Amino acid sequence: MTFDLLIANATIVNADGAVRASIGIRGGIIEALLAPDASLPDAARTIDASGLLAIPGGVDGHCHAEQLTGKYLSLDTYASTTSAALRGGTTTIIDFGIPSDPSQTPIDALERKIRLVAENGARCDVALHGSVITWDDTTSAQLEKMAELGVHSVKMYTTNRGSTMSDDDTIVRVMHELKRLDGLAYIHSEHDGIIHDRTTSCAGRGEIGIEHLHESRPAISEDASVREIIAIAEYTGAPVYFVHQSTPAAVDAVREARTRGLDAFSEVCPHYLLHDESVYSGRTPEKFACCPPFRTADDMAGLRERVRRGLVDTLSSDHTAYDLAQKREHSDDVRFMPHGLPGVQTRMPASYTAMVVEGGAPLEHFVALFAANPARVNGLHGKGAVVAGNDADIVLFDPEERRVVNAAELHQDSDFSPFDGMELAGWPRYVVSGGHLSVDEGEFVDPGAVGRFIGQAPFSQRPGVTRP
Ligand SMILES: [Zn+2]
Repeated sequence: MTFDLLIANATIVNADGAVRASIGIRGGIIEALLAPDASLPDAARTIDASGLLAIPGGVDGHCHAEQLTGKYLSLDTYASTTSAALRGGTTTIIDFGIPSDPSQTPIDALERKIRLVAENGARCDVALHGSVITWDDTTSAQLEKMAELGVHSVKMYTTNRGSTMSDDDTIVRVMHELKRLDGLAYIHSEHDGIIHDRTTSCAGRGEIGIEHLHESRPAISEDASVREIIAIAEYTGAPVYFVHQSTPAAVDAVREARTRGLDAFSEVCPHYLLHDESVYSGRTPEKFACCPPFRTADDMAGLRERVRRGLVDTLSSDHTAYDLAQKREHSDDVRFMPHGLPGVQTRMPASYTAMVVEGGAPLEHFVALFAANPARVNGLHGKGAVVAGNDADIVLFDPEERRVVNAAELHQDSDFSPFDGMELAGWPRYVVSGGHLSVDEGEFVDPGAVGRFIGQAPFSQRPGVTRP
């Protein structure tokens, strides 16, 4: 028996514990974990993993590729975004089929993305969330079609009036349908009325440039919206996942809903764990133009504390490939600025540094938030754990290796990173994706257009998340 690839002498860290073994890979699958003292079998390629940690390939549950919002098109393709993901230790991304404006139907938006995964040559597996902006009498049938395609999560925005925002009627009806169709609601929760009121008063004072972004979208707008959505979820019985939570109170609201029996999940992005609102008074505030904005230092500490206590389920990038020129076109008025930060390649080192190096979290907890939980919450079978029978998605890294982030050395189709100049640990040395050795001794090896569109399991068939 000859393996395609053998990872010898590995210290494997999964979300539920660590073990020493050699990993035999054939046909894109982890075929066997071999006892460390067993004699090594034949393999076309053997990597000695002594001194390195082996973790499951990352699953980025919130990643935008080829995103068209209004007039802003992100600067990437599936080929480039998935290549950046692989370079950063992520072997599965979950993107969104978001209508580019309210006139595009949800199913058209989704089917366009499914087509582009193949046409534009994804390098790793891609799953998709659907998205609905406005309910009409075709929406129910479109959601059924999505479910047939294996898309069982649907994103809605409570803000972005006039573009991606859904009204309350739409949110209630879609969540009723998600309950019926065994799906999961993905919600961007910020209270649009509060944001509209605050941005209007900021603009009236002439304080609407990027240096005022955090003032224009206060924390209470997120907390208020999360509480409203939880009430709708409890009313409809639909499970709910909150993307990019940025305040301790928002995370606490989700935890309290769980104690009342609601299936509710909390996602944080690593950038909220490494920066606070002081970035808006720095030299390049455009590098931090995202929604929700960065919060106070106390909020950041509170968020880190909640990650440490296991109240947060996933760490996602919310990657969007805009560059500084796109940001600076409207840096005098945040209402017209494209929001979103590049981060699919830096999610692993940023999360590892915040959680393990600075936060003292066990490695298993980092693996849970980086790979295992996003695979479980999103119903991706065969992902998120280094076990026999799973897809051969594995990252090897030297936990001691540190690098200073320099956007020019990244491959995220952007000219900046919110982590520029920061020293981070947790950079992959080898990345195996679907059995393809895509990062070899730190060098990217293009696997070609091998990425597949993969479906999700219905919500009730998903295993529970790991919470320490
Ligand atoms: Zn997003």
